[in-house]
Amino acid sequence: MNSLELASEIEAFTDSVRRFTLERIAPNAGEWDAAGEIPRALYHEAAALGLLGLGYPEDLGGTPASFALRNAMSVTMSRYGGSGGVLASLFSLNIGLPPVLRHGSAALQQEVIPAVLHGEKIAALAITEPGGGSDVAAVRTTARRDGDEYVIEGEKVFITSGMRADWITVAVRTGEPSSKGAGGISMMVVPGDAKGLSRSRLDKMGWLASDTAHLRFDGVRVPARYLVGDEGAGFKIIMSNFNGERLAMSAMALGFAQACYDEALDWARQRKTFGSALVEKQVVRHKLVDMQMRIASTEAWLQAVTALADAGKLESDPNCVAQVCMLKNHSTQTMQFCADAAVQTLGGMGFMRGTKSERIYREVKVMMIGGGAEEIMKDLAARQLGL
Ligand SMILES: Cc1cc2nc3c(=O)[nH]c(=O)nc-3n(C[C@H](O)[C@H](O)[C@H](O)COP(=O)(O)OP(=O)(O)OC[C@H]3O[C@@H](n4cnc5c(N)ncnc54)[C@H](O)[C@@H]3O)c2cc1C
Repeated sequence: MNSLELASEIEAFTDSVRRFTLERIAPNAGEWDAAGEIPRALYHEAAALGLLGLGYPEDLGGTPASFALRNAMSVTMSRYGGSGGVLASLFSLNIGLPPVLRHGSAALQQEVIPAVLHGEKIAALAITEPGGGSDVAAVRTTARRDGDEYVIEGEKVFITSGMRADWITVAVRTGEPSSKGAGGISMMVVPGDAKGLSRSRLDKMGWLASDTAHLRFDGVRVPARYLVGDEGAGFKIIMSNFNGERLAMSAMALGFAQACYDEALDWARQRKTFGSALVEKQVVRHKLVDMQMRIASTEAWLQAVTALADAGKLESDPNCVAQVCMLKNHSTQTMQFCADAAVQTLGGMGFMRGTKSERIYREVKVMMIGGGAEEIMKDLAARQLGL
């Protein structure tokens, strides 16, 4: 496909994504925030449009797609939906499933993936523990082999879709109790209804429409065939999974920054103070230009890194990995700047529930922490750049 064909494919696709988002997400996001979850029906609707299966193979019920198309979807849904909580829930499959897709056996893939892509089941990823999230090599949850099963003991926190997930891809420590560090980590899928798994809901600042859970594993038994990849391969699987997650988060952060700009501009045109519209004031115009400047640089960088990803460099090329880390920081900083500027421009209205800017202002922090915190992104980029 040449670049013109790609651009027109993306335009046609994002048109339908925008319509879906404006009809189904934007008007309901406040109600779903209050409910603390999105309706199950939304998974089915998104699946019917092909949104959940985007980027997955056809034989598992998906539609192969470039990163360019997938990122365009993320930007569009963020911009016109204005709710990170909705997207975090709806798309938790995109952090839970890739390890299974790349490293699970063919039988495990068939057991887990199609029902999730059809919106019938929910998938989640559980790495973070009460003892820490950044230091993945310090995972303490254990999985002890017992015949044809593993027995899991431990805890996970802050798990998106954790309350409802039917399949949870969990980072565990296998092997001898003495196996410390990155080499002892493995990945395993755990059914949500497994005996010994208990879950409790966590309250939080933003992403209110997304359920976030604390999970306890008390002697949870899973069949050995639920191991994803080899024993001890978990750390590498987790690290490569992060690259896709961070790129998607960068696209989402750009969309949220644009949502703030759109709302601030709209308000600045309508709102009159001291006899003229806010947009006539130089200070306000400058604020809008400052937002647009950051949005434009983020958009250009996202396109450049997306092209690297589509050229197959997302995992193999240290420079690309470094670019993804730096882009995530830049994009979330753009989101933070735009959320702050938009709330300020809206004045008291920006502090009220019901505006996108108010929600995005509360949601930006998790974008700067989840999927690898800002400081960790800098450390990793420095290593990849050979500093
Ligand atoms: C709403 C929400 C949803 C989430 N969803 C999921 C999920 O679905 N699955 C999942 O596994 N996790 C999830 N997380 C967890 C998230 O990935 C972690 O919060 C994140 O990785 C940071 O880990 P931590 O909170 O344990 O912070 P810590 O690792 O304790 O770090 C605390 C702070 O110290 C900084 N820091 C740590 N080490 C260093 C260092 N060496 N140098 C400098 N600074 C350092 C960090 O950058 C951070 O700012 C979610 C979190 C939230 C808030």
